Amino acid sequence: MKFLINIVSLTADVVHTCKRVKDLFVLSSTMSYVDKMRTNDGASIWHARLRHLRIDKLKVKVLKFLVNGLPKLSTFGKGEVCERCQYGKAHRLPFDKSFSKCKAPLELIQSDLMGPCVTPSHSGFRYMSLSVDDFTTYT
Ligand SMILES: [Zn+2]
Repeated sequence: MKFLINIVSLTADVVHTCKRVKDLFVLSSTMSYVDKMRTNDGASIWHARLRHLRIDKLKVKVLKFLVNGLPKLSTFGKGEVCERCQYGKAHRLPFDKSFSKCKAPLELIQSDLMGPCVTPSHSGFRYMSLSVDDFTTYT
C-alpha cells in the first residue's frame, strides 16, 4: 500500500477487509456495515439508522428482504414512539380565534416579520414585513 510506506509498525483492530482492484480498495457496503451492526439490534435502532424510516416501511423492508443483511427484527415495539420523530413533526398550535372588532382605520395593525432570508431580494434586503390594518384590511 502506497500510503503506508513510511509507517514502521501499525497496531489496530481490523475493522474491515476489502478487495484491492489495481489502486482501488473496494469496500462492500453489505459486508462493512449491515453485517457488523445487525446483531441484537432492535427495530428502533434500525429505524434511526435508516434515517427515521416509518416503522411500517421498515417492516416491509424486513418482510420482503429488501435490505441485504437486515435482521428479522422480531421486536417491533407496538406503541413505541420515537421521540426525535415526534419533535420533528411537531407543529405550533394555532392562535386563538379573535373576536375583537376595530371601529376605525389604524386602530389595530397586525404585522408579521420574516427573515433573515438566505437569498436577498433584488434590492438587497433580507427581511420582509407585512402589515395589515385590521379595520380596512389594507396591507
Ligand atoms: Zn424516529
